[in-house]
Amino acid sequence: MSPHRAWIGLGSNLDDPQRHVEQALDELDHLPLTRRLGASRCYASRPLGPQDQPDFINAVALIETRLSPLALLDQLQALEQRHRRVRARHWGPRTLDLDLLLFDDSVLDLPRLKVPHPELARRAFVVVPLLELAPSLRLPDGRPLAGMADTLEDAGLAQLLPPT
Ligand code: AMP
Repeated sequence: MSPHRAWIGLGSNLDDPQRHVEQALDELDHLPLTRRLGASRCYASRPLGPQDQPDFINAVALIETRLSPLALLDQLQALEQRHRRVRARHWGPRTLDLDLLLFDDSVLDLPRLKVPHPELARRAFVVVPLLELAPSLRLPDGRPLAGMADTLEDAGLAQLLPPT
C-alpha cells in the first residue's frame, strides 16, 4: 500500500520558538515509518486569545507516513511532550504545538482527532504556509485553499527570513 501524505502545523511562542519549530521539523523526519517531504518557511504571528504573551512562530510540513492517523497523532503528542510543552491555559503560551491538518483526503471525526483540523481554513498562519508549499492544495471537500488567505485576518503574519 502506498504511504499516506499528511500536513502538520507547527507553532511555538516560548523559549526560543524558532529553535523549537526548526528542531521539530527535523524530528518529524525521524518519526517511525515517516519521512518529511517538505517544510514551509517560518512565519511570525500574533497570538490568538490572550495578547499578553510573545508572538508565535509557525510553519507547516508535508510528511509521508505509513502510520495510521491515530498512531501519527500519538507520535505528534509524544514529540510535543519531549519539548516539555507548557500549557497552563487555553490559548496560552506553549513551547510546541503540533496539529494534524490534513491526512490524505480523509475526513475524521473521532473524539481525539478531527481531520481536516477544524480551524485550518480560519487561520492565516496555517493557510499562508500551506499555500507556500502547495499553491493548488484542496480540502477533502474539493474547496481550493488559494484565495482563502485573502479573506482571513492576517494577525500581523510576517514571513521570516530563512536562517543564515
Ligand atoms: P490543542 O491544544 O489545540 O493542541 O488541542 C489538543 C487536543 O486536540 C488533543 O486532545 C487532541 O486529541 C485534539 N485534536 C483533535 N483533532 C486534532 C488534530 N487534527 N490535530 C491535533 N490535535 C487534535
